[in-house]
Amino acid sequence: MPGRATAGQAVAVRPGDMVGILGGGQLARMLALAGARLGLKSHVFAPEEDSPAFDVAAARTVADYGDEAALARFAETVAVATYEFENVPAATTAFLRERCPVRPDPAALAASQDRLLEKEFINSLGIATAPFAPVEDPGALARAVATLGRPCILKARRFGYDGKGQVLVREGSDLGAAFRSMGGVPAIVEGIVTFACEVSVIAARGADGAFRAYDVCENLHDHHILSVTQVPARLSQEGARAALDIARRIAEALDYVGVVAVEMFVAAPDASTAAAEALIVNEIAPRVHNSGHWTIDGAVTSQFEQHMRAVCGWPLGSTRRLGAIEMRNLIGADVDRWDEILRDKSAKLHLYGKHVSRPGRKMGHVTRLRLDLTG
Ligand code: AMP
Repeated sequence: MPGRATAGQAVAVRPGDMVGILGGGQLARMLALAGARLGLKSHVFAPEEDSPAFDVAAARTVADYGDEAALARFAETVAVATYEFENVPAATTAFLRERCPVRPDPAALAASQDRLLEKEFINSLGIATAPFAPVEDPGALARAVATLGRPCILKARRFGYDGKGQVLVREGSDLGAAFRSMGGVPAIVEGIVTFACEVSVIAARGADGAFRAYDVCENLHDHHILSVTQVPARLSQEGARAALDIARRIAEALDYVGVVAVEMFVAAPDASTAAAEALIVNEIAPRVHNSGHWTIDGAVTSQFEQHMRAVCGWPLGSTRRLGAIEMRNLIGADVDRWDEILRDKSAKLHLYGKHVSRPGRKMGHVTRLRLDLTG
């Protein structure tokens, strides 16, 4: 196959080649759409028959991530494989790496799949996180809560997202019950960060080490699920520069190739010292990210195109923003307003093709852009 490379060699992908994507949700769907614009084909590998990305992919595999025969066939067809979610099993990426290039490097998955390793990695770069302590048993929980104070948050180390696998420990909370409610899995306790706002940096690192970041996004959550992203974030220039620098240091430390998102809390500036806002990293997502969806309509290069460019070893595109942006998620029944949104001249509607809407399920998003024509 033209452009095909084996693991360990430089990835030389050409238009017309197939990019493998593990995971078949809306992120994979938007990756495949962006790839198609560049003449790339996508092979989506996902266990669910009705995966939204299958609608727009040139090839599909419906199989479990542990199905080695299916993975081997998948690897045969692709010039490079990537993923849309961080919880890809390590055994899956290890198996694939023997057969095709995998980008970003699975080491980035390991660093983000486990909240304890993730926070230790971030701190090792001299970057702040919330204070935390590992918790393996109820005794360790009691000690951690005594140190960090209440309220604090008990979080499962693995497989948590959108607030799942988390318990708020308040004054009077029964610690034994809190530990049991998580199923007794390894966890961490985090001190509560009092933040002025939550932001994220969406950035990309190319195979040649080039680094490009989008302007900092400000994120509003509803019931732990991203609701609205506004760009630019309300941050000082100095704060914004510091946020981008944090993302760059993380990407470089991981020798990362692809799009990465870094979620941060912004502690309010201290008026008495006139210091810039303090930035506290909450999470690293080694993938395209919901808070970067605005880039489809609001930046020269979308995060999805950027990721495809990066994993193919192609030059990164411009991250320039085209105006003031608001991206709103359509969650659950919000999607029923699709025809009303279509009538709104300022709105760009994106639907993910999911057949069933459930409370909390991301069904689509809508971007509103106030163009800046001065540049
Ligand atoms: P997570 O699952 O860690 O991304 O957390 C989901 C949301 O919970 C975050 O976006 C915050 O709004 C909130 N949250 C998580 N951890 C903390 C913390 N240590 N302090 C304050 N808020 C938090």
